[in-house]
Amino acid sequence: MANLEIKRYPHPILRKKARPLTRIDEQIITLIDDMAHSMYAFRGLGLAAPQVGILSQIIITDIGTGLLNLVNPVLLESEGEDRMEEGCLSFPGIMVEISRPFRVLVKGIDKKEKEVQIEAEGLLARVIQHEIDHLHGKLIIDRVSPLHRELIKNELKKMKRKKQ
Ligand code: ZN
Repeated sequence: MANLEIKRYPHPILRKKARPLTRIDEQIITLIDDMAHSMYAFRGLGLAAPQVGILSQIIITDIGTGLLNLVNPVLLESEGEDRMEEGCLSFPGIMVEISRPFRVLVKGIDKKEKEVQIEAEGLLARVIQHEIDHLHGKLIIDRVSPLHRELIKNELKKMKRKKQ
């Protein structure tokens, strides 16, 4: 398995929309395995394909309860509210407090092209929502309060200067 390069803010691909997949072939399975390998290597809780430069609707998560792969994920329901600090492998060193629904129901397909539904709450619900955001070009800095955004302004400027 290969370690993929994680694209960091402000890489333009992070702002693009990912396309749904119509079939899952060997190449996609390899990509999902490599994404998992990279997520563990960088100690992330989740990863979305655009973060490794691929505009396909694939997300993976593992909050310590097992690896979850989801292709073409769609948020069906969400409820409640929860505030928590969140990080992102595309924003190394930055943690921001973000408010998100506490519980979600999502559907998608797994590696075997089987349709699955996942009900999640708390941290897992948060990570799934974070990764689905990536598929729509949405980042943590879009979800923070204006005050918090002001607090991380300098760090973001630094990231923009050292663009890779
Ligand atoms: Zn992220």
